Order: sequence, then structure tokens, then C-alpha cells
Amino acid sequence: MSAMVELRGVHKSFGPLQVLRGVDLDVPRGQVLVILGPSGSGKSTLLRTINHLEKVERGSVRVDGRLLGYRQAGDRLHELPEREVLRQRTQIGFVFQSFNLFPHLTVRQNVTEAPLSAQRRPRAEVEPLAERLLARVGLADKADAYPRTLSGGQQQRVAIARALALEPKLLLFDEPTSALDPELVGEVLDVVRDLARSGTTMIVVTHEIGFAREAADTVAFMDAGRIVEAGPPAQVLDAPVHERTRAFLAKVL
Ligand code: ADP
Ligand code: MG
Repeated sequence: MSAMVELRGVHKSFGPLQVLRGVDLDVPRGQVLVILGPSGSGKSTLLRTINHLEKVERGSVRVDGRLLGYRQAGDRLHELPEREVLRQRTQIGFVFQSFNLFPHLTVRQNVTEAPLSAQRRPRAEVEPLAERLLARVGLADKADAYPRTLSGGQQQRVAIARALALEPKLLLFDEPTSALDPELVGEVLDVVRDLARSGTTMIVVTHEIGFAREAADTVAFMDAGRIVEAGPPAQVLDAPVHERTRAFLAKVL
């Protein structure tokens, strides 16, 4: 069976700035990839290409065996219409550093909004799903609260429940705990760890080395638009081969 995520020779520039310079990546189904790397190395851009929020210039991005944003007919590629791209995107959950909850909606409404409007699923099915997901992230009692009344850690757990509500085949996390006070990091990582154990395919960009060590199947180190080193956590974190990886780890550990 093919990998859930497969990138080959992915290049991306913003004007003269080359941000991704030939990224190859495979994430097998049910596995967790943690991406480490200095600020500006292209981690967020990489996640955004996987979600087709950024178009790649060269190379290919496949999710679940399908080329993102294109339809293949024989040898020819046809760009998909925006509506189809949006549909593909709903199969990929994305959790950002800044939780981006809808402030005017309750916690429950934040979780049910996309399944109701984007997926047009019946309310009778979506409401109980929201209850289950809020229980799963430890927020069953906050369903009727508004985001501003919650702590950052609680808001981020709502954002995770909201991503899960689309029942995605892949979850992307972009520094999900970087905006949190230190004492709130643990409660969010506990939820992410629980998802990892349950066999969800995930890519997590984070500086939390302890989390990477426990939860990752593979740790990749990214620098200047390339993945310079990848392997099991013990290998990359304890015996890094690349000088850049060593220098980075010396700083964050
Ligand atoms: P990271 O997440 O590793 O910090 P990013 O992927 O956010 O890195 O950014 C990599 C580089 O690309 C940075 O130099 C950043 O300023 C630049 N960049 C990212 N997005 C854009 C954009 N939309 N337009 C121009 N430059 C961008
Ligand atoms: Mg980033």
C-alpha cells in the first residue's frame, strides 16, 4: 500500500527566495512524523504544500495516493477546479499555532461548523460527533462556552476537536504549543499523543523534543528548505549525523 503522504523533489519559492529546495518525504499510514528545524527553514511552507494551501513549482505531493490539486488523465495533468481542491483539503486536518477559533461561535458550534457547511452532513449526526470529540479532548463541559472564556490550552484542544470533526485521513500540526504558556503545553501534547497512539497519520512541527522522542515514528530535521536528516527518534535526537542537527539540538535541549 502506498504511503499516506509522498513528496518527491518539491520546490517552492517566494519571488527570489527559495524556501523548499527539493523535499522528499514519505509518511506511512498510521505513523507520526515530527519535523524539527530552525525558524525560517521552510517547515510551515512544507505543511502548507501538503494541504495545497501553497502550490509547488516543481515536484509532486501525493496524499493517499492522489496527486494534490490535479487530475491525471493518461500522461497529462489537469488542474482541479477550486471546489475540488477545497474538497480534498477537508480530508486533511490542520491545527495552527494560533488557534483561529471563530470568536462569535460557541465551542460546540466551532466543532460542528465545517461538517455542517462544508461537508453538508446532517446535524443529527454531527452534534453527537462533536460531543464525543469534546469529551476526547477533555472539554465535554465547555460545549456552550465561547472561545474567549477559555485558556489557550483549552482553545487549542477545541481547535484539535474541530480538525477531527472532518474525520480527516491526515492531521497536520504547525507548532501547536508555541503560543501557549509553559504550564498549558502538557495538556495539549497529551491530546496529540493520544491521537498518535490511536493510529492517526500525523505530521507535527514542534520544538518539543520530549514529545518527539515519545510520539514520533520518524523525526526529520529541516534546514534551509531541505530535509537534511531523518530517522527514528533515538537516532536523530541522540546520534545526529549532520552538523546542523547537532547545533540545533544543542540549542533547544
Ligand atoms: P518555518 O515555518 O520553518 O519558520 P516558513 O515556511 O514559515 O519557515 O518560512 C520559510 C521562509 O519563507 C521564510 O524566510 C519566510 O519569511 C518565507 N515565506 C513564507 N511564506 C511566505 C510568503 N507567503 N511570501 C513570502 N515569503 C514567505
Ligand atoms: Mg513555521
